[in-house]
Amino acid sequence: MINRIFTKDDWIKALEGPADDYRIFVPVKEGDFHSFKPLGNGKNPDFEYQNTRLSAKSLIYPQSERMFEYSLDEDDPEANILKESEKDYSPQAIVGIRPCDAHGFQIVKRNFDNPEFRDPWWVQHRESTVLVGMGCNAPCSTCFCTSVGGGPFNEDMLDVLLYDLGETFLAKSLTEIGEEFLNKTEGGNVADDESLKNAEALAASASEMINSTIPTDKLKEKVLNELFDAPFWSDVAFACINCGTCTFLCPTCWCFDIQDEVLGKQGDRIRNWDSCMFPLFTLHGSGHNPRDQKFHRVRQRFMHKLKYYVDKYENGVQCSGCGRCVRHCPVNIDIRQVAELMNNY
Ligand code: SF4
Ligand code: SF4
Repeated sequence: MINRIFTKDDWIKALEGPADDYRIFVPVKEGDFHSFKPLGNGKNPDFEYQNTRLSAKSLIYPQSERMFEYSLDEDDPEANILKESEKDYSPQAIVGIRPCDAHGFQIVKRNFDNPEFRDPWWVQHRESTVLVGMGCNAPCSTCFCTSVGGGPFNEDMLDVLLYDLGETFLAKSLTEIGEEFLNKTEGGNVADDESLKNAEALAASASEMINSTIPTDKLKEKVLNELFDAPFWSDVAFACINCGTCTFLCPTCWCFDIQDEVLGKQGDRIRNWDSCMFPLFTLHGSGHNPRDQKFHRVRQRFMHKLKYYVDKYENGVQCSGCGRCVRHCPVNIDIRQVAELMNNY
């Protein structure tokens, strides 16, 4: 295991080393929000951030990804044959990802990479990605990672964890891949005992700062159909405008739609993120829509995250506690309150 200490300026310079071998993504501030951008895009990385507005999921699971392409040209001997589109699986590193968002990849992995199904594109993007996490010294009031199996310095899924010690960053490798990444960084010194102790104290105090919780202990024992028919769904859904913000921002929402786009004689089959909050999501070709009312769609989102997932995977809820949907829902629908309704029903 490697423990290295860098001044904050040196850390940004140190990333130039691995940049020869990895596409490096760092948090960058644009307007009021942060997002992950390639290092060296002309904008300075800003590691003094709480979290990005969109999670980092698009770096492993692109919002739009060309799956296949085909020719419709009758003169082409390969007309109408689907061919897999070229994809970029060159190594990449997400530097500064928060532990809740790394935990999100673990939750999503159960859907895309399990003994029954293996999504080749998700898996290859994931396997070419190094996750360099940044612990949270001051979690937001809406964060509840500690009640869904995570924590502000949770190490699961991370290859390296960074501790912000004020003037310096302590970088701790957690896997061989992380060690390899850190070995390519330039500068820095071996961490001294005092820095290691400070890092431990920081992690303990950050966990204590999280006082927002989500009750989940009784979800498993609930009878699915009773929860489905519970009387509170109309009230929960009343204010929702089906904007889809909650699902697009969420690191653990994975639904997609597949569309064919044709221009001239060239066709592309594209997978795009979709949202269970959109009426079109379940519209059948026949015109029938099994979720044609708003409360059906809102119920689906919460039942999936807090009941179907719980029953299917027996490994917690489909939520990493990042709090984005709470912070950004325009009408203040709060998953913590809905979980309480479901858990206590
Ligand atoms: S962000 Fe809020 S209003 Fe928009 S779809 Fe989600 S719950 Fe509904
Ligand atoms: S459901 Fe909300 S709090 Fe949970 S991971 Fe998704 S955006 Fe974050």
